[in-house]
Amino acid sequence: MSPQAQNRNAPGNGASARLLGKSKHFYFDREAETLPREKLERLQLQRLRATVRNAYDNVPLHRRRMIAAGFDPQDLRRLEDLRSLPFTLKSDLRDTYPFGMFARPREHLVRLHASSGTTGKPTVVGYTAQDLQTWAELMARSMACAGARPGDVVHNAYGYGLFTGGLGAHYGAERLGATVVPVSGGATERQVVLLRDFGARVLCATPSYALNIAEVAESEGVDLRDSALEVGLFGAEPWSEAMRREIEGRLGLKAMDIYGLSEIMGPGVAVECEMQDGLHGWEDHFLFEVLDAERGTAVADGEPGELVITTLTKDALPMLRYRTRDITRATREPCACGRSHLRLHRVTGRNDDMLIIRGVNVYPSQIEAVLVGLPGLAPHYQLVVERKGSMDELTVEVEAFSADEAGYPALAKSVQHQVKSMVGVTAAVKIRKPGEVPRSQGKAVRVRDLRPKGP
Ligand SMILES: [Zn+2]
Repeated sequence: MSPQAQNRNAPGNGASARLLGKSKHFYFDREAETLPREKLERLQLQRLRATVRNAYDNVPLHRRRMIAAGFDPQDLRRLEDLRSLPFTLKSDLRDTYPFGMFARPREHLVRLHASSGTTGKPTVVGYTAQDLQTWAELMARSMACAGARPGDVVHNAYGYGLFTGGLGAHYGAERLGATVVPVSGGATERQVVLLRDFGARVLCATPSYALNIAEVAESEGVDLRDSALEVGLFGAEPWSEAMRREIEGRLGLKAMDIYGLSEIMGPGVAVECEMQDGLHGWEDHFLFEVLDAERGTAVADGEPGELVITTLTKDALPMLRYRTRDITRATREPCACGRSHLRLHRVTGRNDDMLIIRGVNVYPSQIEAVLVGLPGLAPHYQLVVERKGSMDELTVEVEAFSADEAGYPALAKSVQHQVKSMVGVTAAVKIRKPGEVPRSQGKAVRVRDLRPKGP
């Protein structure tokens, strides 16, 4: 990071930080964020070579695969040469559980995180002190990009613990020079009180939990639209534009999408700027590819495909061509905010979340986009998938605003019609009474898949 950036965030420098906060564009690290593409790519190549060398020398799985593919780290002369490297999958982390993918001895690591591991062993990720510094730096950069400023109160309602969200946002906000409230998830009534009393300008949470906070505030008679809240950094689950508008309206803030995954680093891999027109992926630390998921070949800019990420500065866990399973589109067109880094279209679906209902591909966020905004409905829903005979059946369970059941049949009919015409799938619809759909305490449970497991 540049000396100016260090100086800018030095303690006791609050006055100039506030001044900077008022200028039209604010960058945490101007030089890195506005690096011309040519320089950016030169830096990428240099860092990619070091990363591939690190993976080859220190991770047996990577070395074996490179040898099998006939790839020698010496052969890496241009960025395009990356395409002859094998992919890395989530299952590789499981297969080498717990520490087999680490390029550093365990005693050189200062932190571990792990996924919940709903399907078998958890995936474990590790960080050296240098990795944690880079993460805090990129998270601070991301928060500033989304509108947070030094001196802000940041209410961090991401879960603390093995999940990367809580600590990722925490150290990023500290690095930015903000005042962090490390509240984690749950005890929502108390969160509403603290949000109001401490004057938080920034809220970090999953979008579904932000909605839960809004609802609890409303039920307590607290109007958070009158609070100091101005910016929401929401991520860790896919959400729709309709949900964004809903949250913005109810909390009176600008809701920004932030993207990351623990296998790559955690939150702070990509984030929206004030244009809300794509997430800037930090190309000085990550190499982004968008690929045709079946063929594994690159798609053109603007075309949808699976996001594949290679880390460029990770010490402990270098990742080569990691298949995220997330579907997005990339653009390298200049952004009005002045940042030179590519933009990724908001991830609205993850390959793993995709439901195939009688041959139709359905992402939960597509259904969400239909439900949120339909008159008479509250934005709380679950999708239930069952197998009846040889057929998969989808039931949309969604809450009504009103407890008066007289209107439910008409409401159900309207939802069914909208889902059919917008998503192309016939679904049964159950209208639930207010409060009947479980509220998010962190990651929302959008799908209950009751189909028998196994082949
Ligand atoms: Zn921008």
